[in-house]
Amino acid sequence: MSTVSKVVLITGASSGIGAVTARRLAAAGHTVVLGARRADRLAEVADKIKADGGEARALRLDVTDRDSVAEFVATAHDRHGRVDVLVNNAGVMPLSRLDALRVDEWQQTIDVNLTGTLNGIAAVLPLMSERGGHIVNVSSTLGLEIVATSAVYSATKAAVRALSEGLRKEHQNIRVSVISPSFTESELLGSGGDPATMAWVQDMAGKLNMPTEVVADAIAYAIDQPAAIDVSEIVVRPVAQAG
Ligand code: NDP
Repeated sequence: MSTVSKVVLITGASSGIGAVTARRLAAAGHTVVLGARRADRLAEVADKIKADGGEARALRLDVTDRDSVAEFVATAHDRHGRVDVLVNNAGVMPLSRLDALRVDEWQQTIDVNLTGTLNGIAAVLPLMSERGGHIVNVSSTLGLEIVATSAVYSATKAAVRALSEGLRKEHQNIRVSVISPSFTESELLGSGGDPATMAWVQDMAGKLNMPTEVVADAIAYAIDQPAAIDVSEIVVRPVAQAG
């Protein structure tokens, strides 16, 4: 594993996978720049990292807003002189059947999970196309398999995989990793959806949830490989999960 210290930008770092990944990477010696909308929660994560001796910066970010993402990346670049890795992690999962017509949540899911990822790619590509870099996109096992109520969420996560593959083929100096977790401890189930569906998912999650550190470790593994190695895809799921 490489021990090179990198400047790593993480979207959706105010809770769950993003927050734990920030702590994991900072503990390994990387400088982390945390982005999300809840500034108070972000500051808590960054303060804890700094108290533990790590380097962290919290910047308010809305991934659905292209200007906000551009400013996030530009500020990180100005303050740290480079951007080595972007972890496109921000996401929402308001599950429901299509015929429930929760169309505002469809749009929000597309805006955060898909457009948000694209906004991240757009903001770092001009920096990375010349000097290289690494883009880590957090997808989901629901990007690989579709269940009733996951159509829109699965569509966004499958699209993230497609984008990643296209990006990898276009750039031979940019590493591109897709991390696809299944049930993981986080605040994701509080992001809307049909109440009966979400209660069912909550019940499954209670039985199957993996510790968040497992996903953080997978992301860290991809980042810490030697520069010439591209960890293209990691899928992590609980052994006890059917299917
Ligand atoms: P959390 O809800 O704990 O974290 C989601 C993060 O996304 C929060 O930090 C939230 O911050 C941020 N976010 C949401 N909307 C925006 C926005 N518009 N702009 C910026 N940040 C935003 O859930 P997870 O940690 O589980 O989710 C992280 C990723 O992991 C997601 O992409 C999710 O789809 C994926 N995933 C999770 C699984 C799980 O079981 N937990 C399984 C498979 C994939 P804030 O609200 O402060 O903006």
